[in-house]
Amino acid sequence: MTALLDVDGVRAGYGDFQALFDVDLTVAAGGATAVIGANGAGKTTLLRALCGIVPITAGAIRFDGADLGSMPAHQRVAAGIAMVPEGRMLFPSLSVEENLLVGGHRPGPGPAWTVDDVLELFPLVRPLLDRPSSVLSGGEKQAVAIGRALMARPRVLLLDECSLGLAPIVVRQLYASVPQIQERGTALVVVEQDIGQALAVADRVSCLLEGRVVLEGRPDELGRDEITAAYFGTGGAE
Ligand code: ATP
Repeated sequence: MTALLDVDGVRAGYGDFQALFDVDLTVAAGGATAVIGANGAGKTTLLRALCGIVPITAGAIRFDGADLGSMPAHQRVAAGIAMVPEGRMLFPSLSVEENLLVGGHRPGPGPAWTVDDVLELFPLVRPLLDRPSSVLSGGEKQAVAIGRALMARPRVLLLDECSLGLAPIVVRQLYASVPQIQERGTALVVVEQDIGQALAVADRVSCLLEGRVVLEGRPDELGRDEITAAYFGTGGAE
């Protein structure tokens, strides 16, 4: 497997508080790696470390063979790493179209995405283009947030808790876009508390528990009981 993103022994935290302990993670070029874990397991911190928002205190993050080291966040976007943050974080006073265009302000090296491409991926967004993003439903906002991140032309898209607060049918619609994003050549890291949804789209899964990877592998090779035990920290998963 060719690793596009290779996280090796990463430690990170907030001041004196260590949130990640020697975390390893691999994302194949064009692949999808799921990171699952309960509240506070460190999933968001891991994504922030990949983006350069939270500095790492040990270990290495290699992207396409290059060590990201202390590369600042804006350079990582230019290198092809884009994040869809938890809570969507759209600009409320801008229209949907403007939110999308903001994403493409400094395009990275990944597959080209235009507003039309985003509308093809999420047809529900088309009639909303002129509306302020503040009036959208949660699912609509999430689609726009994913579209905005794609407009930055990432080689890897980091998706944080995409399903949070959304109805199951909306979540399924959003996740239906994942194979299409991969087909165009963008890999994904999918952070989820919804284990079933994460496993359905991922070719690798890592389970975090209290800042440590306690289970890693291919979803089709790991048993559901094994994954559930690792998620909740019960059973013998170490
Ligand atoms: P959730 O699903 O609740 O978002 P998570 O798995 O994403 O959880 P993180 O948000 O990465 O977990 O949090 C990991 C640990 O770091 C938790 O103990 C949390 O309280 C702590 N933490 C997160 N953000 C901060 C911060 N800004 N300052 C201090 N501690 C933080």
